[in-house]
Amino acid sequence: MKTVDIHTHLLNPAVRFDRLFDRLAAPLFARSLGVDPQALKDHPWETYVQAMAHAVATSARIEQACLFAVDAKVDRKGRELHRDGTVCADTTDVLGVARRFPGLFIPFLSVNPLRPDAIERLEEYAAAGCSGAKFLQNYWEVNLNDESLIPYYEKLAALKLPLVVHVGSELTIASKRAYEGADMLRLPLDCGVTVIAAHMGLGQIDHLALPWRNLSRNPRWFDADYHRILEMLETRENLYGDLSALLIPLRARALEHLSRQQQVHHKLLFGTDYPVPFTLRFNTHGLPRATVRKIRRVTNPFDRYAATLEEFFPEQSPVWSNYRKVLPQ
Ligand SMILES: [Zn+2]
Repeated sequence: MKTVDIHTHLLNPAVRFDRLFDRLAAPLFARSLGVDPQALKDHPWETYVQAMAHAVATSARIEQACLFAVDAKVDRKGRELHRDGTVCADTTDVLGVARRFPGLFIPFLSVNPLRPDAIERLEEYAAAGCSGAKFLQNYWEVNLNDESLIPYYEKLAALKLPLVVHVGSELTIASKRAYEGADMLRLPLDCGVTVIAAHMGLGQIDHLALPWRNLSRNPRWFDADYHRILEMLETRENLYGDLSALLIPLRARALEHLSRQQQVHHKLLFGTDYPVPFTLRFNTHGLPRATVRKIRRVTNPFDRYAATLEEFFPEQSPVWSNYRKVLPQ
């Protein structure tokens, strides 16, 4: 049975892979996308979009991907303070890509709630076909429990748009730690929004004096937010969690534990965080060598991610069909 990827990203149309770090990382990134590094350098955005569409179209395991915009950082007058050259993408760009490749993408809007016209934008993008919303409040430096956001949440709830909220460490963009925590979920949940906590609150480097604990598979040393979210998934009816970007070592250490938390599996959603790369070369996630070799032969990036997660959440797990609970049919 095919599933839906609840968490993928469009990149900034102005993205370039020619900064020093990018020059080093670009060949690796190109390989993980299955594209020619030179094409990625010459026509970065177009190469990326086509590679992603091709990967979704040819995937054996996913039939569609929820494609996220990420709004810019703005002030309360709507003046732009920062627009990340890689991560930020406009909702209109996401809608354009979804129209260009019919049936492959489910567009998710991103509207910084500080914008004076935020609520009109929500209505406009919902009418244009967006099926959900994405927050990167840790980058925007927006406290989600600020009561001035209540009308925004009420509009999301009225439009039945699920809201994906980043919870846990942020590795790709400037981020304010105070706004990365599970406590950010309280007010949107209280307002009746269907909230999806991305990354299960994992990945913070909490143990500075005893650094190996950051990679320990002993649940005692996992992020406090991870345990919090597990509890909240049981008590908050409108809260879900996604499994995106869980294959990096700081998060993957919890996979085995999470696979045993059957009491919340009806609330977990499959997602990848594409194009965030991951490798099984240096990190086997506790899987037998033969299994890792088999998975590494899978070339489609969505299928490779799904094949890895399937070792923890077998085919009959609700994880693969839970998307139906949060997306409009
Ligand atoms: Zn993401």
